Amino acid sequence: MDLKFLVVDDSVTMRRIVINSLRNLGYNNYVEAGDGKEALDKLGADGGINFVITDWNMPVLSGLELVKTIRGDDKISKIPILMVTTRGVKEDIIEALQARVNNYIVKPFTPQILKEKIDQILQAA
Ligand SMILES: [Mg+2]
Repeated sequence: MDLKFLVVDDSVTMRRIVINSLRNLGYNNYVEAGDGKEALDKLGADGGINFVITDWNMPVLSGLELVKTIRGDDKISKIPILMVTTRGVKEDIIEALQARVNNYIVKPFTPQILKEKIDQILQAA
């Protein structure tokens, strides 16, 4: 499977960290978005995106709202979603899982953790 990632975070620095980690893992195909609304625009415009990595706390449209919108849209509802966020309390993780993220990482993270979580999602697919 040739993966094309959509990396969504309002922090340019965090997008760079995620993208650099992806490149180190051999994934060189990606697009970026700075908030949930921009992410939805990219998903609508680019049918080739097949993996979403998203932050939670963002302006305009949050990562949680992004997840709910993706899961409610038949055209994109099956896309794997990995949430990468500073929100580490149990209630937040449960809420994200209920919104049907596939996996969850609490920042800060290591490239190894990112690899493990992506691999878990791909193996379950
Ligand atoms: Mg943020």
